[in-house]
Amino acid sequence: MLMPLLPNALASVLPTAFDADQRYSVDLHMHSTASDGALSPTDLVTLCAGRGLTHMALTDHDTMEGVEEASRAAQQAGLCLVPGCELSTRWQGINIHVVALMPGGLQGPMIEGLEQQREARIKRAEVIAERLEKMGLPNALEKARAQAGSDRPLGRPDFARALVAEGVVADWAGAFKRYLGSGKKGDVKAHWPEISEAVGWVVASGGVAVLAHPLRYGLTRRKRGLLMDTFMEAGGQGVELVSGQQNPDATRDLARQLVERELYASLGSDFHFPGSHAAPGSMSPVPRTAAPPIWQHPRLAHLRDAPSGMLGAKPLNQLS
Ligand code: AMP
Ligand code: MN
Ligand code: MN
Ligand code: MN
Repeated sequence: MLMPLLPNALASVLPTAFDADQRYSVDLHMHSTASDGALSPTDLVTLCAGRGLTHMALTDHDTMEGVEEASRAAQQAGLCLVPGCELSTRWQGINIHVVALMPGGLQGPMIEGLEQQREARIKRAEVIAERLEKMGLPNALEKARAQAGSDRPLGRPDFARALVAEGVVADWAGAFKRYLGSGKKGDVKAHWPEISEAVGWVVASGGVAVLAHPLRYGLTRRKRGLLMDTFMEAGGQGVELVSGQQNPDATRDLARQLVERELYASLGSDFHFPGSHAAPGSMSPVPRTAAPPIWQHPRLAHLRDAPSGMLGAKPLNQLS
């Protein structure tokens, strides 16, 4: 259980640097029912508040549909909600995720960008369904839709649940290993934009682009560096230094790649559902590093000093 880390109002001002072994009550990568998360935006915010978070970002896959509800809940709960999403993109044939932190909400070219992502996701689901039908899952689209339980655009997790429900595979991990994971038939990427295009939307819309979970793409250190360089050329300025649980040596090595490039460091649990290894705010520790925390970015700095200012959330020191 994560303790409330910054128990009083004064301490809610976020530090300007990462110190070794200090824990942060900040989680800038989480999912709700607006994409493939299990909790409604309200329930997610309530859980975060209960776990003592002072700052959270809602980053559903390719949508900001949950942000309005989350910001109302955050106002109630007195914590700072950063609007955001996690964009599906492509780089060198790999599906790369970019977290968009959008302090001004959904605006500018992101509006059109997310519309494009929505259409891409709908088309992609049809292709995934066709392929899974050929591999033994009849009526795949209907079955995935039933698993989603709402009319939001489908994702691979919905197909994974359908494969399990129909007994095609024993479990969720098997569904990704055999059908949906990287390089498998159901891993359809053709519809996503190039990473540079997606980063462009974020930056032109007042947001900050953060490269999501860079250790999870199976890249060599060198290739990860090339990915960061492409990302930066497009205007990307942050990288998730810590995403969920990571090997400390890998984290320290990643930190060096950030420092070399003067990138900001972000952190998040990538929380999807209760009972999984990730809980809101429960990430591996951030090592001491010269990479500045993402909340020091000029577009997010008002978060640090005035956490209550975001979307009208109540100042922590006014909570009864
Ligand atoms: P999509 O956004 O439709 O491409 O689906 C991606 C989501 O599927 C990720 O955010 C995870 O929630 C889940 N996912 C992707 N790869 C795996 C995997 N190998 N094992 C389990 N879940 C995965
Ligand atoms: Mn997901
Ligand atoms: Mn991701
Ligand atoms: Mn995610």
